[in-house]
Amino acid sequence: MSTIFSQIRDRKIPATFVYEDDAIFAIKDIMPQAKEHILIIPKKEIATMNDITDDDTLLLGKMMIAASKIAGDIGIAESGYRLVMNCNENAGQTVFQIHMHLLGGEILQSGFGGKQ
Ligand code: AMP
Repeated sequence: MSTIFSQIRDRKIPATFVYEDDAIFAIKDIMPQAKEHILIIPKKEIATMNDITDDDTLLLGKMMIAASKIAGDIGIAESGYRLVMNCNENAGQTVFQIHMHLLGGEILQSGFGGKQ
């Protein structure tokens, strides 16, 4: 069973794409946690950050480069942004296909979230 992100990748579920290349795509988050909230997602399904291998080195680098490009394209590079990847339950991962959150467009809460 493919994840919701793979279904979006395959255009079976609609989403607003902001970037796509041979390895990566990026969409607007459906429940934005900041004025700008983009998800950068590899086309290859990797369930969690625990599942990455040395073979994914280039792919992970491409995600960072895409994030930087998108931040520039949507005009938040200079004002600033945050990149976040959640892994498993304690971090609140809900979709088990690795993805990077790009958050910005406003002043973000400081800190990285410790105990609730
Ligand atoms: P995480 O909690 O790190 O696994 O993040 C998953 C993110 O995917 C959440 O911010 C959700 O709002 C977002 N999301 C879930 N379904 C969709 C969808 N159909 N389109 C866009 N974003 C989605």
